Amino acid sequence: MMEKSAPTQETRSIEIFIKPEQRRSYFNLPFTMPENVDSFTLAYHYDRSSTSDSEGGFTDSRRVNTIDLGLIAPDGSQAGASGSDKSEISIGPTSATPGYNAVPLEAGEWQIMVGAYKIASEGVRVTYDLTFTFKQPRWLRGDFHTHTIASDGVLTAGELGIHALRHGLDFLAITDHNQFVSAAQLPQIPGLTLIQGVEWTHYEGHANFLGVDRPYNEPFPTSTPAETLSRFTSARQRGALIVINHPFDEGSGFNFDFHTLPFDCLEIWNGPMRESNLQAVGMWRSLQAAGQKIPIVGGSDYHRDNLFQILGGPTTCVYSSSASAADILSALREGHAYLVYAPAGPSLEFKAGDAMMGDSVAWSPGVEMQIALDGLQPGDRVNLVTGNGSQSLLIAPSTGSFLTTAFMTAPGFAYIEVQRVFLPGIPPLIALISNPIYFD
Ligand SMILES: [Zn+2]
Ligand SMILES: [Zn+2]
Repeated sequence: MMEKSAPTQETRSIEIFIKPEQRRSYFNLPFTMPENVDSFTLAYHYDRSSTSDSEGGFTDSRRVNTIDLGLIAPDGSQAGASGSDKSEISIGPTSATPGYNAVPLEAGEWQIMVGAYKIASEGVRVTYDLTFTFKQPRWLRGDFHTHTIASDGVLTAGELGIHALRHGLDFLAITDHNQFVSAAQLPQIPGLTLIQGVEWTHYEGHANFLGVDRPYNEPFPTSTPAETLSRFTSARQRGALIVINHPFDEGSGFNFDFHTLPFDCLEIWNGPMRESNLQAVGMWRSLQAAGQKIPIVGGSDYHRDNLFQILGGPTTCVYSSSASAADILSALREGHAYLVYAPAGPSLEFKAGDAMMGDSVAWSPGVEMQIALDGLQPGDRVNLVTGNGSQSLLIAPSTGSFLTTAFMTAPGFAYIEVQRVFLPGIPPLIALISNPIYFD
């Protein structure tokens, strides 16, 4: 059901000749990192020793070559160095060869650092093979709202990260109460993207500021609407993605007038599905009906394991062009996302032609939508929700995947909701909810 194709690659070779006079010198070889590179591999090879002069286990030191390797980023900083220890290194947004930083690969002029430590008397030819693997849009699953020991959680960010990987998540935002964490402070965990964030936590409301190290300079407390606005405005100017958290939470709902504050997303699903979340869904739906295209986000608000709180409960699924924090957040901002009750919850493709959830398309009478679902259980009810109400598309007769179509009869929004009976005798609960496609 999911569209999968092999990621595209481009390879390039750089060959140099190092003269004996260059022995014990350093120099750089510039190369261009193309746009949209997800991961980069650099291999190099050269004649490490001349076997003709090796006799009786003795190698003539004048004929031994040792070339050191390093990499310099476009801003001139050292992206890594490995001496002559490794003949191949790789860098990507969530993992890198030890000695190199896992970073998103910025397009521009990078440089190979060449250390000509030992050079044979006849010189040496060195070949560098560069492999660029381009970004490939894909669905990633994660949790945008978690707490560590830096506030009132019980795990460190590293422990939380391992926990997330075990739950099958691809990314995790760290959002401690009024505590900043910088990207550099977060541990590197191969296969997991950690996103820096803070939950601005005030008696009158909570908001997550995601993806920047320091969204504002002042202490967190505010006493006037102008001061509150200034925290949000600063976060917005510094590029944070702003989420209004759990607006109807029993103890810490959002009492500020959010119409007066800049924000990007609404957390309509915080922890287990319950009345306060249903109220948030209701409010979001009336905002949609009023023509406000506000993307949704979910977060477990994880502090520790208990009966009602699990990491990835709910999970937000984003259609991201790479595993970098920036791409994950931009997918969320564009509404290319849906929420499921747990990491292993069902999956959804929801399209109208080339447009996907979060996108706007021109309305024409009877425009068709394609809905593909996987991981359904018998009895799951799939609904299409529009400004005119909710329409049942199918009730899953068995486990598995289903394809269906629906038609838009009037302009407006349309999103998908899956209702599931989790326990016999208990009314059905939302198992999946998507962002809308907008028909303008
Ligand atoms: Zn909160
Ligand atoms: Zn929280």
